[in-house]
Amino acid sequence: MEALLWLILTALVISVPIVYPRWTLRRALARPLAAADQAVLEASVPFYRKLTPEQQRQLQRMVAQFLHQKKFIGCAGLEVTSAMRITIAAQACLLLLDKPSKVYRALHTILLYPSAFIAERNEVGAGGVVTPARQQMLGESWSDGRIVLSWDDVERGTRDWQGGNNVVLHEFAHQLDSESGSNNGAPYLGSPDSYRSWSQVLSRDYANLRQEAWLGRQDGVLDHYGATSPAEFFAVVTETFFTRPWQLAARHAALYGELRKYYRVDPRDWLPAPPPPEPEPAFLSMSMPVRSFAWADW
Ligand SMILES: [Zn+2]
Repeated sequence: MEALLWLILTALVISVPIVYPRWTLRRALARPLAAADQAVLEASVPFYRKLTPEQQRQLQRMVAQFLHQKKFIGCAGLEVTSAMRITIAAQACLLLLDKPSKVYRALHTILLYPSAFIAERNEVGAGGVVTPARQQMLGESWSDGRIVLSWDDVERGTRDWQGGNNVVLHEFAHQLDSESGSNNGAPYLGSPDSYRSWSQVLSRDYANLRQEAWLGRQDGVLDHYGATSPAEFFAVVTETFFTRPWQLAARHAALYGELRKYYRVDPRDWLPAPPPPEPEPAFLSMSMPVRSFAWADW
């Protein structure tokens, strides 16, 4: 009898930490968003009404899960509101629509600053000399499950969606990148064929952007910050894909195709086509020779 009791107790101790989180998540998912929260969700994704009913349902569900599982911490005196949480959750989960992925499994905490914040860095100079440096940041993504964001810049990206910069999309693209095991500009893609074509297309466009950045030229679509590293390139092209899809598809058709395959959506279904651009002066349309880099080299 005593042995049976021990057995039952042991089973309970083992199963509670597994069953309880699932039970609380099910309860959170069963509760519909309050009307005010739904209004914030719709305002934080300006093309929400263009999503299919199934995509809207997915987004609502993932936002509920995100809010249930992730912890938000206000920094430098910021009080995190429900509207801030929903805005960040909605834009983060936009990257997961129509994909069979988990809701940022490794991520547990979002640290939110009122505006751009200072990060301490150790910079390695010539001869391996390490010097401490201070850098102003809009966002940061860590592979240990933390994301840091500036709320001012989250708001700016939401207000001016088609401006091309969105710090939430950027930092959460880094999270997707790190889920594959390393931050190298290639998220989990599945088949070797997918990695092959991703590598071919992205390494070529990355090299082109580095060349452009070096020459100080701007094609008006991709931010030169993407020339910093393959990881930054993936984060920048993700921002552009979801905010300026028409311009990206027009200038970088193959890159757009790779992102469409990976994200499984076409944001041109959601955002209007911009007016045709002014014709470029002839001297700007000269093509430049570009060295091709292998994606894995970076
Ligand atoms: Zn970045």
